[in-house]
Amino acid sequence: MSNKYVYMFTEADKSMKDLLGGKGANLAEMTKLGLPIPQGFTVSTEVCTKYYEDGETLTDEVVSQIDEAIIKLEKINDKKLGDLENPLLVSVRSGAKVSMPGMMDTVLNLGMNDAVVEEFGAKTGMRFALDSYRRFIQMFADVVKGLRKQRFERALDDIKEAKGYDNDLQLTEEDLREVVKIFKELYLDETGGIPFPQDPREQLYEAIKAVFGSWNNERAIIYRRMNDIPGSIGTAVNVQTMVYGNLNDNSGTGVAFTRNPSTGEKGIYGEYLLNAQGEDVVAGIRTPQPITTLQEAMPEVYNQFIEIANRLENHYKDMQDMEFTIENGKLYFLQTRNGKRTAPAALQIAVDLVDEGLLTEEEALLKVEPKNLDQLLHPSFDKEALAAAKIRGNALPASPGAAAGRVYFNAADAAAHKEMGERVILVRLETSPEDIEGMAAAQGILTVRGGMTSHAAVVARGMGTCCVSGCGDLKIADDEKSFTLDGETVNEGDYISLDGSTGNIYLEDIKTVEAKISGNFGKFMAWADKARTLKVRTNADNPRDVANAVKFGAEGVGLCRTEHMFFEEDRIPKIRKMIVSKTVEEREAALAELIPFQKSDFKGMYVELEERPMTVRLLDPPLHEFLPHEDEDIKSLASEMGISFDELKATVEELHEFNPMLGHRGLRLAITYPEIAKMQARAIMEAAIEVKAEKGFNIKPEIMIPLAGAQKELAYVVDIVKETCELVKKEKGSDIEYLVGTMIEIPRAALTADKIAEVAQFFSFGTNDLTQMTFGFSRDDAGGFLGDYYKKGIFESDPFARLDQEGVGQLVRMACEKGRTTRGDLKLGICGEHGGDPSSIDFCHRVGLDYVSCSPFRVPIARLAAAHAAILNR
Ligand code: PEP
Ligand code: MG
Repeated sequence: MSNKYVYMFTEADKSMKDLLGGKGANLAEMTKLGLPIPQGFTVSTEVCTKYYEDGETLTDEVVSQIDEAIIKLEKINDKKLGDLENPLLVSVRSGAKVSMPGMMDTVLNLGMNDAVVEEFGAKTGMRFALDSYRRFIQMFADVVKGLRKQRFERALDDIKEAKGYDNDLQLTEEDLREVVKIFKELYLDETGGIPFPQDPREQLYEAIKAVFGSWNNERAIIYRRMNDIPGSIGTAVNVQTMVYGNLNDNSGTGVAFTRNPSTGEKGIYGEYLLNAQGEDVVAGIRTPQPITTLQEAMPEVYNQFIEIANRLENHYKDMQDMEFTIENGKLYFLQTRNGKRTAPAALQIAVDLVDEGLLTEEEALLKVEPKNLDQLLHPSFDKEALAAAKIRGNALPASPGAAAGRVYFNAADAAAHKEMGERVILVRLETSPEDIEGMAAAQGILTVRGGMTSHAAVVARGMGTCCVSGCGDLKIADDEKSFTLDGETVNEGDYISLDGSTGNIYLEDIKTVEAKISGNFGKFMAWADKARTLKVRTNADNPRDVANAVKFGAEGVGLCRTEHMFFEEDRIPKIRKMIVSKTVEEREAALAELIPFQKSDFKGMYVELEERPMTVRLLDPPLHEFLPHEDEDIKSLASEMGISFDELKATVEELHEFNPMLGHRGLRLAITYPEIAKMQARAIMEAAIEVKAEKGFNIKPEIMIPLAGAQKELAYVVDIVKETCELVKKEKGSDIEYLVGTMIEIPRAALTADKIAEVAQFFSFGTNDLTQMTFGFSRDDAGGFLGDYYKKGIFESDPFARLDQEGVGQLVRMACEKGRTTRGDLKLGICGEHGGDPSSIDFCHRVGLDYVSCSPFRVPIARLAAAHAAILNR
């Protein structure tokens, strides 16, 4: 850690993102490029991490560096903090390495006090100065002091109502003087007698501390968990000279992208508002104008804007998302960053940037977040159902996709009803960062106010959730339990449908259909396939899923869970008969009835796979999972099977276990009932031999034994499987080759992997069980309490979704290394849920696995994540 904590924008550049955050590094870079940037400085991320590690607030050392930076900034601007003649006013904003839009806090107009506002007002206009002061008090009260912001909002609304105004612009100088007075009184009241601070330096230190503090607010933590952003990176804080878009009608502020963030189409895209401050555009309180109309309003500014926007895009070689302010006819850039975009837009932009010669294929791959591809697989409306539906409203198509569900009016209700299994649509006047959990729970989001760059639009696009925004025709009732649109009242819990691609609103439940991928996808994914070294397989247990996964690019099946084949209506009676069998002969007879089903499933899958490999796992779950547990059901099954209720009931009770996950499952079943393993091995071998003969495919079956913990128990089952395989080969006169391997899902297997590899020809890491057993967390119940771990900052992510590299990962790494000491050509893969998670895939690449295996819909994500891993770890 260095002891320089504060950097002027003139002292840094874009390479310093870790230390200065994205915003700080980019402001420095733009300064270097000579662009019109209101100057300022950045307090580094190290202060943030130190703050949390040591519990220290701003140390003397940091404060003295801030003081020095302020003096430099005063010189640059020829203004002074707190000066009456020429006051320096600043904004204080967060900025982490990875952008987290709206998740953290901001304070504007800092430096304002009772004396400054009068002098500043005399120069710039009193109404404007007072308006800036009241905004500052309001933000400071909220962000720095955590006072109840509703009281401030209500006070403002009361004045507007008393005067009969319907927007803030109607407030006069006198009104605003009154607002400032009331706000200061509220502040005094809410703080229990502490007046609003008049010393600008005190304001500044407090604001910087508060913005650092917002790194750990609840919504930031949720956002980080959703986006795999580690808390340890911390945020930086930027202190920047204020410029005013609300100075007069020759001023304004806006947000723009260099390409369309929904479609990727090249061309400037954005919105602005005249006589407004930054937050007005993003907060969606007034609906902004499209940026192209700026060309008429202020042609010179517009041309300069376009020129700089193009320069920035060429410089960063990516689509830029820029904030700008026009102060009395002069253009300033407040920030630029690589813009968030939909998945179709991300692919379009990546392909175009390569075509335009700005990026290499591999650079373009890195511009697309693997998780983002999820969106390509999102639903649209069923064409016929849509044709029969009536459009009842239309607003901005803020984030594409189709959604249908029940209406709820706040985030908590939306989240609660989602939990209950409903499809929900969140309807809000406008969204704010506090709504994040409800937005994540919703199929779709509908807002009354706000443009294409409003909070709702930006966040929904990031999540890939359908969003329609700015529907001014929609009136939400005062009690927020219903709304009216097109003359109809829609109550909480009623169905509506949204089309995020057209902005259409329907007051009915329209059927949705899954997405198809096309166009740029194939081209882009081919680049990914060229770059990656990890293979990608899929977890599937029927021919249809296999076919689907192959379409998505799966190179084989990494896990076929054979128990899934037993649950179908025509099969479950047969497996039940097997379970209640009293003798080996009875069991063998029951199994003989199951063989044809297993075999035909395997054959279907081998056909779909052509020559791609398939790992088939022997029966894993405890047998009681196949039996009914209610007396009613036991009775009817008993009569179906022609046995007595008591007999079946006794069997069910016999199979009861206190900890079934640690019980009679996995290869333990094969030790008690070798005939089950024999039947399954036979079905696999016969299927492979027959498809090989019928289709000429070169098939090499992989038979996998689950839940091994010790060499001897595994060897016992391996022998049974091999004997059967050899027998089948002989019967069929086949020379087919096959592999017998195991899953590594018990810590003991990882610890003794050298021994295990002596009897297993391949390992597949079952990281679901391995995580369960390493943490001692039940995978079925942990969800109930892990929420408390996230809230309390103990865990940042779900170890069942994102591999715990520090603990479970160590077992994986050890097993790979040890296994390969005794078997040089040991094949290694992963088939736990982590096989589809990008950060876990990076880990798999680094420990040298041969493949990852994941559900069909995550195959594209895994292919891209594997490409990223290969490029970034080169
Ligand atoms: C695992 O444990 O990671 C695994 C893939 O097996 P299952 O989820 O079927 O227990
Ligand atoms: Mg398992």
